[in-house]
Amino acid sequence: MIVPDLPARVDVAVVGAGLAGLAAAEHLRAAGASVVVVEARDRVGGRAWSEALGRGRFDRGGQWLGPGQDRLAALADRLGVATFATWSTGQKLLDDGERVRRYAGDVPTLGPLELLQLHLAIRRVDRLTARVPAADPLAAPRAAALDARTVADLARHLPRRVRGVLDVAVGAIFGVTPAELSLLWFLAYLRAGGGLMNLSTIAGGAQERRFVGGAQTLAERWVERLDAPVVTAAPVRRVRQRDGEVVVTSDRGAVAARAAVIAVPPPLAATIDLEPAAPARAQLVQRTAMGAIVKVVVAYERAFWRERGLSGEVVSTRGPLSVLFDNTSHDGRQPALVGFVQAGPARRWNGDAAPVVAQLVRWFGAEAAAPQDLAITDWCAEPWSRGCPVAVMPPGALTTAGTTLRQPVGRVHFAGTETATAWTGYLEGALESGERAAREVVRVL
Ligand SMILES: Cc1cc2nc3c(=O)[nH]c(=O)nc-3n(C[C@H](O)[C@H](O)[C@H](O)COP(=O)(O)OP(=O)(O)OC[C@H]3O[C@@H](n4cnc5c(N)ncnc54)[C@H](O)[C@@H]3O)c2cc1C
Repeated sequence: MIVPDLPARVDVAVVGAGLAGLAAAEHLRAAGASVVVVEARDRVGGRAWSEALGRGRFDRGGQWLGPGQDRLAALADRLGVATFATWSTGQKLLDDGERVRRYAGDVPTLGPLELLQLHLAIRRVDRLTARVPAADPLAAPRAAALDARTVADLARHLPRRVRGVLDVAVGAIFGVTPAELSLLWFLAYLRAGGGLMNLSTIAGGAQERRFVGGAQTLAERWVERLDAPVVTAAPVRRVRQRDGEVVVTSDRGAVAARAAVIAVPPPLAATIDLEPAAPARAQLVQRTAMGAIVKVVVAYERAFWRERGLSGEVVSTRGPLSVLFDNTSHDGRQPALVGFVQAGPARRWNGDAAPVVAQLVRWFGAEAAAPQDLAITDWCAEPWSRGCPVAVMPPGALTTAGTTLRQPVGRVHFAGTETATAWTGYLEGALESGERAAREVVRVL
């Protein structure tokens, strides 16, 4: 339940009321520990954030779940949050900057030679992915060489249009360009999520289903049932360890605990003062950076794209939107599309929706010109996320900064989807990380 004040003392203070923090709190409570969750925002859910738009409630943040995300599916089931299939019936569109073409299947239609090269590139990524253990990428053969390269190095020899499609896929998954990603880190991430195609597709992939009422409903219902207080609007500034005690200080006071779980994205964790300092961890965390995505939900009176045999899915190598999906509400009452501005254009986002609507008109015709409503979320402007969907690693960080993001510092433990070994970066990974951190703490206490 949400309460106004921090207790003076608990067994464990959890920082962050995203799914990772809530998972940690629940598991700690189940083990008999007293817990408080301290959250910076005035709401729970973190990167899961849903709001009403027209006749539906839509996600400003994470929204899809897919096969193999068993914790997430079980949680939804337990909390009575229904899920429904993402609409994927109909042809898709590829906008390569010159022409807009229809295609069917999972891979955009390019020329026959380009298509072959795209398939070969995906096969190569799959082969490399299979060699990198998600939980310990440094144990991969030639790990240092892979960490010295970027994903752009891998794609350098490909034709421009094939590279364009891969750039869109990388931007959609990470919110950065391929040149910003360590190849080793990228492969470990893909391994944790079942491979590149698994992360890119709807049916059978990570975008297969959505939550009725939005993903934040999970956090809202969970907090109601959680047998632990949650204090919101309480940014944590300092975590001090002394004589076996951990003092967590927020803008709404301090709580003394026997241990703490910091369940915030690594770049945000870097802003919390640890006392005594943990320089090795600081060096690693400083090298992580949040991706950049502006998420745009556009509500319409009618799903006119469906009427024309289109699924609503678009891959575009020219911005501002790079990908688009049907986002109609579960009951069909609120037709909608959802698009992503990613990486560079997201960092340069100036709030002007007109170029987005112009793109929709280019793809679907004049009917797209008059949306009922738009919800635009610039995640880079969110002070308690500073970007999204996930924090990424550049070349050299894994091999030179040494330790893992999961390594505790004394009695301070770390959760958050970035620390997960399965479905890193996803809602599922957040749950896994919270459980793992809770198990660590239980062992220590
Ligand atoms: C636009 C977007 C699209 C996405 N799409 C998907 C998707 O379709 N499917 C999917 O599975 N995942 C998706 N994700 C990712 C998914 O949302 C995240 O993996 C997940 O929500 C992370 O949960 P978390 O608990 O690890 O971190 P967070 O949700 O970030 O929670 C951390 C919490 O800590 C709080 N906090 C930060 N600093 C402090 C501080 N100093 N003191 C106190 N509190 C603090 C934050 O306010 C936040 O509530 C998407 C994310 C975004 C933003």
